[in-house]
Amino acid sequence: MPKKLNEMVFKRKFENMYVCMACNAKLRSTIAKVKARKSKCRKCGCKDLRLKAKERRSQKA
Ligand SMILES: [Zn+2]
Repeated sequence: MPKKLNEMVFKRKFENMYVCMACNAKLRSTIAKVKARKSKCRKCGCKDLRLKAKERRSQKA
């Protein structure tokens, strides 16, 4: 049960987290908003965002 809880926390932490391609600012959004380009970086206004979850790979190295 604790493991499942961790998964939930992890998912919640990363699922809706996006990183600005221009200035690497983190922001929370939804996939629908990002795909519709309705969300933008509040720092630089850039609309190119990527999922934060992809960073997980580089953390190991
Ligand atoms: Zn930005």
